[in-house]
Amino acid sequence: MIITEQKPFAEILENLKSEKKIIIIGCGLCAKTAQTGGEKQVKEMSEKLRKEGVQTAVHDVLDAVCDERLVKLFINKHKEEISRTDSILILSCGAGVQAFKQVLSGKKLHPGLNTLFLATEKRLGEFYQFCSLCGNCVLDLTSGICPVTRCPKGYVNGPCGGAKNRKCEANPENDCVWHIIFEAGIDDRIRDRMIELKDHKKQFHPRKIYPKGKAVPHA
Ligand code: SF4
Ligand code: SF4
Repeated sequence: MIITEQKPFAEILENLKSEKKIIIIGCGLCAKTAQTGGEKQVKEMSEKLRKEGVQTAVHDVLDAVCDERLVKLFINKHKEEISRTDSILILSCGAGVQAFKQVLSGKKLHPGLNTLFLATEKRLGEFYQFCSLCGNCVLDLTSGICPVTRCPKGYVNGPCGGAKNRKCEANPENDCVWHIIFEAGIDDRIRDRMIELKDHKKQFHPRKIYPKGKAVPHA
């Protein structure tokens, strides 16, 4: 899931500036799980803004704001209200805000969240970044532990040599991820030749993908 945090309320207010009536949209998928843009947070935001003189014409939580089809359904359902409001405040990741941008023109959009990272959830409210979406996964060679993400230097061919007492030299709070990988059992292919230099072309962005297609750049 995508992890987000709410922008400081003062920043949201500053972005809304002289606007008097808005729509607030939350996301029932990632932002709900991250507790930044579910029903509860949307209602709280609406109430806080009301106290500052900004009225909410509609507030709603879409199942997934990153799905343009759901965004279109919402827009068609609320054409009237949208035409009478100054802007839409969206409590979702940046993909959700831009899904609105793709299908709605002539209306100001405000992101209410900062988008942070792709996460694994350990328990309620506890999230870890284990994957950086590099497009060329090496987990098969590293016992399912990602050095691209968990080594601050992104070393994919063994430790940098700076670790002290297991601890990472760049982030001493953590064990060096290469210690963890070696302990977990390293693939012989790494012992023999280390991981070949990664093809960073696969990390290009922006990317797009069609059904059953390959990821390719888009403008
Ligand atoms: S190597 Fe790491 S960053 Fe790349 S896809 Fe695999 S888990 Fe994600
Ligand atoms: S100590 Fe290990 S985890 Fe830290 S930067 Fe060096 S190789 Fe990466």
